[in-house]
Amino acid sequence: MGDLWGSAGELMPVLFVGHGSPMNAIEDNEFTRGFRREALALPKPRAILCVSAHWETHGSLVTSMKKPSTIHDFYGFPRDLCDVEYPAPGSKWLAEEVVKTVSNQAVRLSEEWGLDHGCWAVFRRMYPEADVLVVQLSLDREKSHRDHYELAKQLAPLGGEGVLIIGSGNMVHNLGLAEPRGEDFNAEFGFDWAIEANDILKRLIGEGNHDLLIEYLKLGRAVQLVVPTNEHYLLMLYALALRGEDEPITYFNDKPVAGSLTMTSFRIG
Ligand code: ZN
Repeated sequence: MGDLWGSAGELMPVLFVGHGSPMNAIEDNEFTRGFRREALALPKPRAILCVSAHWETHGSLVTSMKKPSTIHDFYGFPRDLCDVEYPAPGSKWLAEEVVKTVSNQAVRLSEEWGLDHGCWAVFRRMYPEADVLVVQLSLDREKSHRDHYELAKQLAPLGGEGVLIIGSGNMVHNLGLAEPRGEDFNAEFGFDWAIEANDILKRLIGEGNHDLLIEYLKLGRAVQLVVPTNEHYLLMLYALALRGEDEPITYFNDKPVAGSLTMTSFRIG
C-alpha cells in the first residue's frame, strides 16, 4: 500500500464517461464543467482505475509504472493540446490488485503504455491537480462482449477499497458520419437515428437488461449505426457490470454532438 494516500474502506460509485473530443482537455464548455461537477460530488478516490476506448491490446494489460506518460494519441489538433501533460502518478499496488482480483481471466502488468486521451482529457477536468493515482486497464481485442462484461464484474471489490472505476468511451459514436461545425465536435445536435439509439440504450439501462446491451447487434438499425466498431461502446458495459442491485443511475452530459455522437455519461451509486 506504500504509494497510496487517502482513506480506505470508502465505497466508491462507478462512472461511465462519454469523453468526446480530445479538445475537452483544454476547452471550457458545458461538458468539461459536467466532468468537474461530477468529480466534486464524489468522495475523493484513493485511486482511479480507468478502462479507455483508446488502448486495445491482445490479452488484458494493466499499467504498473510509477509515472505514466501522457500519450497524445491523436493527429491534427492544436499545439496547445499537444503540449498538455497530465502528470498523475501510477500505482503498482492497484495494478497488482487488479491482477489478483480478476480471477476468471488473465491480466498482465505492463509498463508500455501510460495515459491516453480517453483518460487524461477527462481527468484533467475532473482532477486538475493530477493528484489522484491512475491505473489503466486495456481492452483485450480477443474477448467477446460477454467476456468484457464478466471481467468487469470481477473488479467490484476495488470499489470498496476507495478505487473509482471509470469506463471512458461514448455510447453513441460514429465518427465516420459526424458533422462537426468547422472543427467543433461539441456542436450540439444529433441525427434522428443517433438520438433514437441513445434513447434505446438508456431504456435498456433503466430496465437493467444487460443481456440485450451485450448483444447490441440485435437492437436494430439505429443502434448498429451508432456502434460501427465496439471499442467506445464496450466501456459502458464495464460500468454496468459493476452495478449493484437497486443502485441508482444518474445521467450527466446527456446530449448529442456533431450529429452522430452523444456525450451521455452516468454515475452508478
Ligand atoms: Zn475516443
